Amino acid sequence: MRRIGLIGGMSFESTAVYYRLINEMVRDRLGGLASADILLHSVNFAEIVEMQKAGRWDLAAAHLAASAENLKKAGAECVLICTNTMHLIAREVQAAVDVPLVHIIDETAGALKAQGLKRPLLLATRYTMEHGFYAEHMKALGIDVVVPEADDRTDIHNIIFNELCAGTVLDASRRRAIAMIEKAKAAGADSIILGCTEICLLLDPANLPLPGVDSTAVHAEAAVDFALAGHVAVQAA
Ligand code: GLU
Repeated sequence: MRRIGLIGGMSFESTAVYYRLINEMVRDRLGGLASADILLHSVNFAEIVEMQKAGRWDLAAAHLAASAENLKKAGAECVLICTNTMHLIAREVQAAVDVPLVHIIDETAGALKAQGLKRPLLLATRYTMEHGFYAEHMKALGIDVVVPEADDRTDIHNIIFNELCAGTVLDASRRRAIAMIEKAKAAGADSIILGCTEICLLLDPANLPLPGVDSTAVHAEAAVDFALAGHVAVQAA
């Protein structure tokens, strides 16, 4: 099978989910004790958060591009940035390596389209909801993303950074997020994007007022599809 390179640690709470999902999917598909061939570079998230706050996307791009290069040198055959937000600099990361970057927005759009969904509410960090890179990429793929109102955007951003990335999952925050979804449903949204790789810790996409696509799960599945394409099981003599 092909080797998967993960740029993770943003936060480690979601990278742990990627690690488990990818391995579980490989075991489910191949059976027995099969597991994925993974290289992980887990960065210090505090440094990345400082770059985000300062708007130094150039520094973040250099940091993650170097990470991708190191994963490639170590044998990774594809690279994943295990966060939606940092896809803001996905182009720079892809430019640094000649192996494919499995893009979280492409995979999320594909999952929406497969279900005929076109007007999703995006729950994500402020950067992902407001910067434009995400909505523009989705628009080019035929999906019209809607975002929560300003107060709700602040709340969901704070839930992500102050709670989920810090390992805290609160019922009150779950109720808050579901209220945002109800509001968006009444305003015409047809689905929800769990557009932050920690939101699956708070919300179960199968149990929401609208159909949901979990960016973490679809991204992990795309990595497994890549890794197992053309795979032939190796038998010991
Ligand atoms: N994991 C989150 C995301 O998917 C937020 C952490 C970050 O800022 O990278 O956007």
